[in-house]
Amino acid sequence: MVDQTTVLIVGAGPAGLVLGNLLRAAGIGTLVVERACREQVRTRARAGFLGPHSARVLTGHGLGAGMLHGGRPHGLCAFRGGNGGFELDYARLGRGEVHTVYPQQDLVTDLIAEYLDRGGELRFGTTVTDVDARTATIGYRDANGTGRAAGLFLAGCDGGNGVTRPAMPAAVTRHSQDHGVAWLAVLAEAPQSMAAVTYAIHDDGFAGHMARGPEVTRYYLQVRPDDDPETWTDDRIWAALDTRMRTAEFGPLRRGRITERRIVHLRSEVVDPIQHERLFLVGDAASLISPSAAKGANLAIMEAELLARALVDALVRDDHSGLAAYSRTCLPRIWRAQEFSRWMIDLLHCPPAATADADFQCALRHARLDSLRDSHAHQNFFAEHYVGI
Ligand SMILES: Cc1cc2nc3c(=O)[nH]c(=O)nc-3n(C[C@H](O)[C@H](O)[C@H](O)COP(=O)(O)OP(=O)(O)OC[C@H]3O[C@@H](n4cnc5c(N)ncnc54)[C@H](O)[C@@H]3O)c2cc1C
Repeated sequence: MVDQTTVLIVGAGPAGLVLGNLLRAAGIGTLVVERACREQVRTRARAGFLGPHSARVLTGHGLGAGMLHGGRPHGLCAFRGGNGGFELDYARLGRGEVHTVYPQQDLVTDLIAEYLDRGGELRFGTTVTDVDARTATIGYRDANGTGRAAGLFLAGCDGGNGVTRPAMPAAVTRHSQDHGVAWLAVLAEAPQSMAAVTYAIHDDGFAGHMARGPEVTRYYLQVRPDDDPETWTDDRIWAALDTRMRTAEFGPLRRGRITERRIVHLRSEVVDPIQHERLFLVGDAASLISPSAAKGANLAIMEAELLARALVDALVRDDHSGLAAYSRTCLPRIWRAQEFSRWMIDLLHCPPAATADADFQCALRHARLDSLRDSHAHQNFFAEHYVGI
């Protein structure tokens, strides 16, 4: 027997859950299938910086109560380098917009609760194994064995390692870029040490400090791509952060237990187009982006809203123009985000010392940083792209 629904959604991350909620609000039948169990989905710490567009989408569709209650506006960013440090009050630059700091796992928890309240069907512990874009059909495996489900449309919201992107035909263009940089992503049970998101550029490699919650801070350390996170003991992490953040000059970090350490490879992947037959890719499934500019979850929310609007037009008003335009509407925004993300990677990392032009490249980084410190036009450019999609 094949389970039937109207829109079949693979993956219960920000993309799948925003899409599911918006479709349920329009009375459209949905089934979300998610490989992980509810507890895993609810506790997976990843993003934390929501841009103004994401905040508007969430509040505009009745999904922002948790974010408005628990989130904090954030509009200050600091850079530290060999020539000292400076802050950019980006709330007063560019379009005068800010981020909202709200951990992704809290957002996902809110979205699951609201989706179920709206009568949506969600199956955890269900792994999609095969995808047919032409018939919008999937095969899945769960604790009871195997099964099949079909919709009128299929939304691939299963992230960068899912099954829907590989189901796109061979003829689509698959852009892929390894930026040659890896970060050790660390979560510390400690309040933030500085009011600002802080980016430190150092000969040992980049270090970053980002607020998450009142008692949790995310840190990043540039590491070798083949590094083993287990060799990074708590003491080694704090020592590297002290050196690269230049705490002797700028003041100490507030320490706490390290609860997560994992290697993140800075990669970009973009599929073009992101729709085929009845299959539409959303979020990381459509385009993987490095976390250097905190764009991934924001792209996922933007695309989910666009696709929801297009599906409602098609299913309720028999207007298929939004669906036909989905790919060409999203891709320019995806590429703008990719371009800024790459700009951030270039700003924050020097090439390995062994590289022939390493000194030249490093001097360019410092010149760009000096320009960002001194040029109001450069600061406005940064602020606009930092918060925008
Ligand atoms: C360390 C880190 C920090 C980040 N910080 C930020 C930030 O500050 N701001 C920002 O905007 N972005 C940030 N990001 C990126 C952001 O987390 C992702 O872009 C976002 O999670 C994408 O959402 P998604 O719904 O597309 O995919 P995901 O969140 O990956 O969700 C996909 C879901 O699909 C499920 N799935 C996968 N395969 C299958 C299958 N075969 N069958 C069924 N289900 C399946 C997965 O279990 C998962 O739940 C960060 C990422 C990392 C790693």
